[in-house]
Amino acid sequence: MKLKIGVIKGDGIGPEVVNEAMKVLDKVGVVYGHEFDYTQLLMGGASIDTYGVPLTDETIELAKNSDAVLLGSIGGDAKTSPWYKLEPSKRPEAGLLKIRKALNLFANLRPAVLYDELKGACPLKEEITEGGFDMMIMRELTGGLYFGERSTEEKNGVLTATDSLTYTEDEIRRIAKRGFDIAMKRRKKVTSVDKANVLDSSRLWRKVVEEVAKDYPEVTLEHMLVDNCAMQLVKNPRQFDVILTENMFGDILSDEASMMTGSIGMLASASLNETKFGMYEPSGGSAPDIAGKGIANPIATILSAAMMLRFSFDLDQEADAIENAVENVLKDGYRTIDIMSEGKVQIGTAEMGNKICSYI
Ligand code: ATP
Ligand code: MG
Repeated sequence: MKLKIGVIKGDGIGPEVVNEAMKVLDKVGVVYGHEFDYTQLLMGGASIDTYGVPLTDETIELAKNSDAVLLGSIGGDAKTSPWYKLEPSKRPEAGLLKIRKALNLFANLRPAVLYDELKGACPLKEEITEGGFDMMIMRELTGGLYFGERSTEEKNGVLTATDSLTYTEDEIRRIAKRGFDIAMKRRKKVTSVDKANVLDSSRLWRKVVEEVAKDYPEVTLEHMLVDNCAMQLVKNPRQFDVILTENMFGDILSDEASMMTGSIGMLASASLNETKFGMYEPSGGSAPDIAGKGIANPIATILSAAMMLRFSFDLDQEADAIENAVENVLKDGYRTIDIMSEGKVQIGTAEMGNKICSYI
């Protein structure tokens, strides 16, 4: 298969970690007989330096013509970088918001995986984390409270602020479908999270999710109230496979889940639209404090590339090969500095990429 991948290496540690992910993809290509055709794209600080703006229309077009985009990270140190002397709409992060909108990326996928090997880094009790956990949080990204009408007005000398939470049936249906599609590739369980005992938007969410579930008879659906979910995440994280939820609940729950996994350097993510297209990137930022030192953990980006193979290209076997290789390297005791612990072998960014390749 020949696959067109737009590559945005970006700023900070972006180029270092993306190079390792490309190395791993190339190894997969050799072993499984695929050709990855990369187009390098500029966004964020690198684009400001070259074109004066964080994202050009040409880059958007090139991204649209790719089958998927692999992104490193964008942005720099807000205190020292000249990019942050620009007005907010011209700063690196504006490029990210713009491309998400242009590509209609409404579904944000954040896996939270605790590897048995790294469970010492998890703040939960050992009896809870025994065997690790592996869940996928799917958050609606373009609707809900963060995009509703808002206002602040003064009535009789008292300030009153209002934010509104709106979802249409169609918005719920399209993300629910993606959630069930992903559950079909996993342990076939969806936990839909809402606040249906209080909110009308949640009652509609629940109704539409139930309708979509009828097309996926193999998937077990359960509903959970968001407050209970926040509690269950730390009480029994192993019960979850796919968590499907709206924008604000997903924002909060995915941060909670990420803190239970050890390091931000291990966390992949994806943003999807209605087609097979997706943008894949590590959950962490550009980490300017460690950029250029060759010590950043490339695993989050490498696992994001594995998600790309699985969700945009349906190459499940190849994605499994990458995920198993990561697990094997951890079992062998190799660690980058962010996940280093006593008795393990500390290696750098490129060495980690090489080790992972050697297992594929
Ligand atoms: P954001 O960019 O999301 O607004 P931020 O700038 O605070 O947030 P990061 O850039 O992710 O967050 O950095 C947070 C901390 O995590 C930093 O100390 C950084 O060095 C570390 N970190 C982030 N990514 C990695 C990585 N891949 N490997 C090692 N450490 C990392
Ligand atoms: Mg950052």
